[in-house]
Amino acid sequence: MKIRIDAERCSGHGRCYAIAPDVFDEDEAGYPIPHFDEVPLTMREATLAAQLNCPEQAIELVEDSPEADLP
Ligand code: SF4
Repeated sequence: MKIRIDAERCSGHGRCYAIAPDVFDEDEAGYPIPHFDEVPLTMREATLAAQLNCPEQAIELVEDSPEADLP
């Protein structure tokens, strides 16, 4: 699972990194930066909680496609 932040929706108030500090860092302007390119299994629950609590619906979670590894 990968995290995508919609920069046009995100208002940078930081609920995501307050809820899931092990998943998100913040930049100098207060916008979130995911710690991972690929979310570890142990962080899935926290990532989903951050997504559910984002008031701007700016966090998109993209599940890996099994076909992506096929030649
Ligand atoms: S909670 Fe949502 S809108 Fe707020 S900083 Fe995080 S991603 Fe952006």
